[in-house]
Amino acid sequence: MEGNAQTEKFVYDFAEGNKDLKDLLGGKGANLAEMTNLGLPVPAGFTITTVACQRYLADGAQPPGLAEEVAEHMAALESTMGRRLGDPGDPLLVSVRSGAKFSMPGMMETVLNVGLNDESVAGLSAQAGGNDRFAWDSYRRLIQMFGKTVCEVPGEEFENALGDAKTAKGVRDDVDLDADDLKQLVDVYKKVFAKHTGHEFPQDPREQMNLAIEAVFRSWNADRAVLYRRQERIPADLGTAVNVVAMVFGNLGPDSGTGVAFTRDPASGEQGIYGDYLQNAQGEDVVAGIRNTVPLEDLERLDKKSYDELLRIMSTLEGHYHDLCDIEFTIERGKLWMLQTRVGKRTAAAAFKIADALVDEGMIDLDEAITRVSGAQLAQLMFPRFDLSGDPTALTKGIGASPGAASGQVVFTSAHAVERAADGVPVILVRRETNPDDLPGMIAAQGILTSRGGKTSHAAVVARGMGKTCVCGADDIEVGTTSFSVDGTTVSEGDTVSIDGTTGRVYLGEVPVRASEVVQYFEGELDPAQADDPLVSAVHRIMTHADDRRRLRVRANADTGPDAARARRFGAEGIGLARTEHMFLGDRRELVERLILARTDEERDAALAGLQPLQRGDFLDLFREMDGLPVTVRLIDPPLHEFLPSLEDLAVEVALANERGESAGKQETLLAAVRRMHEQNPMLGLRGVRLGLVVPGLFGMQVRAIAEAAVELARDGRNPRPEIMVPLVGAVQELETVRLEAERIVAEVVGDSGVDVLIGTMIEVPRAALTAGQIAEAAEFFSFGTNDLTQMTWGFSRDDVEGAFFGRYLELGIFGVSPFESIDRDGVGRLVRVAVEEGRAARPSLKVGVCGEHGGDPDSVHFFHEVGLDYVSCSPFRVPVARLEAGRASVESAGSDNR
Ligand code: PEP
Ligand code: MG
Repeated sequence: MEGNAQTEKFVYDFAEGNKDLKDLLGGKGANLAEMTNLGLPVPAGFTITTVACQRYLADGAQPPGLAEEVAEHMAALESTMGRRLGDPGDPLLVSVRSGAKFSMPGMMETVLNVGLNDESVAGLSAQAGGNDRFAWDSYRRLIQMFGKTVCEVPGEEFENALGDAKTAKGVRDDVDLDADDLKQLVDVYKKVFAKHTGHEFPQDPREQMNLAIEAVFRSWNADRAVLYRRQERIPADLGTAVNVVAMVFGNLGPDSGTGVAFTRDPASGEQGIYGDYLQNAQGEDVVAGIRNTVPLEDLERLDKKSYDELLRIMSTLEGHYHDLCDIEFTIERGKLWMLQTRVGKRTAAAAFKIADALVDEGMIDLDEAITRVSGAQLAQLMFPRFDLSGDPTALTKGIGASPGAASGQVVFTSAHAVERAADGVPVILVRRETNPDDLPGMIAAQGILTSRGGKTSHAAVVARGMGKTCVCGADDIEVGTTSFSVDGTTVSEGDTVSIDGTTGRVYLGEVPVRASEVVQYFEGELDPAQADDPLVSAVHRIMTHADDRRRLRVRANADTGPDAARARRFGAEGIGLARTEHMFLGDRRELVERLILARTDEERDAALAGLQPLQRGDFLDLFREMDGLPVTVRLIDPPLHEFLPSLEDLAVEVALANERGESAGKQETLLAAVRRMHEQNPMLGLRGVRLGLVVPGLFGMQVRAIAEAAVELARDGRNPRPEIMVPLVGAVQELETVRLEAERIVAEVVGDSGVDVLIGTMIEVPRAALTAGQIAEAAEFFSFGTNDLTQMTWGFSRDDVEGAFFGRYLELGIFGVSPFESIDRDGVGRLVRVAVEEGRAARPSLKVGVCGEHGGDPDSVHFFHEVGLDYVSCSPFRVPVARLEAGRASVESAGSDNR
């Protein structure tokens, strides 16, 4: 083990890494390495690996050998820079920055200016040409960041002290404090530090660095980082890398500054110059939205040389990454430095438009284009938009930072947002600007509105990442603690506003919504060739290619004619699940009641005879809408008592009637029936095929209705393709019994009409999956009911579990996402795999699909592709999502086969 520990490499110089090493070096470290290797101006530095962080978090101490490696790399850095860390006369300063595999904006920690102390502050001033103000400002920033990050000193204490210094001097901006003011502020900060930590601010630069590295490791488990990961489904065990980088300064005067840039607009995808610049500022000032920035174009006027170089670099990066890149840069006295780049986050609309544009520009092919967008993004584009025909009262306009249409009650703190949302009230979180502590409120809110900060502010970046509507930088708004005012209108906590994250417009009151253009396109109402918005043609092109490439067919779960029609417009290639029990509701309840209460065969047959023509009508609708496409009709599944009033309600009604001395009549009979049928575990009780075997004639009635409907249409020249599906089968004998009767009825009804009726089963009981070889002997198709299969494999009640303990399970990392939402590949997935293999071995022509909720879940679609299903079936609205993901799955698996 010792030997292993020594050979393990924990630290990489930037020149040693590359962009493909994100697992090990984090996104920031990998891309800094890539830029270094591209010859771009990156300050020298090194990266401590995510593995070192994992080891630190597991053991509570740095892994053996790490300190020595850091020391070696530090020595190399010192020699490259020609300065020593914290040298009193000519100090090298470094930043210590977090950087995980997946970007987690603002979630973890960074400490700048490490290496400054009471002595080296003078050396820094000398380096800066005698700029005392700059040196003391850098020192106070170090104490502030170090105090907050490394030693958990409350940040407000420093902010209050800074505020007091400005008030004492009668100035508004930080830049109006001079060297003496800042020197005094350093003294105050040191006292704050000592008061909270019980010791002095560490003067030893190595100790500063070491503590900062450990603090960055620990920040992986900070509450907000944990919450963000859960929200974004980022695995909890990745850990963060740490980048130690020679400092360059954007706060050395007006010829210095710092900024962020995008190679294309991350909100709309359009080409152009997008970004923000802040003159004479350092580090995270831009992203934090602390001071108002200027648009990046203004840099051309301020520093043309750096501006031109930046544009050249941006084009190099796009050409290299073949994608939108975002960039953080600093200009130190006219010299441009690249501090970060990555393939930038973007809105859903921008993702489609950029992928489409990159194909036009010859940078990527269509296969690559479909991997650049996701089903989740497509789903976002299908959200409704505001309908402005009612001329709502416009309050103001900010920057449309993350699209969507959101209405809700105004709240001003993250805590209030969480509270109200927990009561089911939609809220809009209004803040001057957000910071990482606002994350819970941002998650809870329908939308976010800020008065400061640009497209790269914290609010904008985080909201975009979450797909949450956001308008930022609405600077006409004066945000108070319980109200905001704009142009003489005051909007108080609890009032409703509506925000449009595409246009940036803010309206008073609730604005109604209409279908998005993408939905109109899927509905066939918008011709992609004629649509004004290039988004529609981008979606069309990408969907067409996904359809060309996918192997999986996509069907819909639909029970009514209109649903089936919509599903077909959305691209469904059949119905994978028509739940017939939905047809037993409404005004048919009475017939169902009669069926349940029947005391004699005659009464029961009469009730079934009443239901039969109604069912036939239902099936006619479905087959007509899906003419020529398969329609899987599932025989009734839930326990019959679900169609009766609840036991409690009936008992109360009967008791009240008895109390009044009245006869409860029919209610009493119903109550007795409900009592008779009551089960402790109805999910495991008399439902599905069991019901069909126990209630004579029930399945038979349905089979007859299906066959008759099909024959009627066939005689009309149509091409119905019914598939009869038996639910909840666990043993082949169950299926054989049902099949025998069904075949008899089908043969009787179909005659010479030419209608072909398939008979198959759901696989939703683990035993069915495990005996799939036997079951396939009696089934022409399988459809995985992954809802029940998940329920029975995990032993989680699908109706209760989410509220009861899933929160805790997610927190503990037992799973990263509910297994009811996304297929549990290892457990439930294994059953699916076994059943597909054994089913096909027994009957090679077996058709296999899935109709549980997972059929429309992007990640699960990839799994179903991998295990070789023939189709997935999902709700009509998710059909386009499944089509896209099925295309992506094909392209990705072809890519990995070629590798
Ligand atoms: C299933 O169990 O996955 C399924 C599709 O059936 P239901 O949800 O109706 O039980
Ligand atoms: Mg089921």
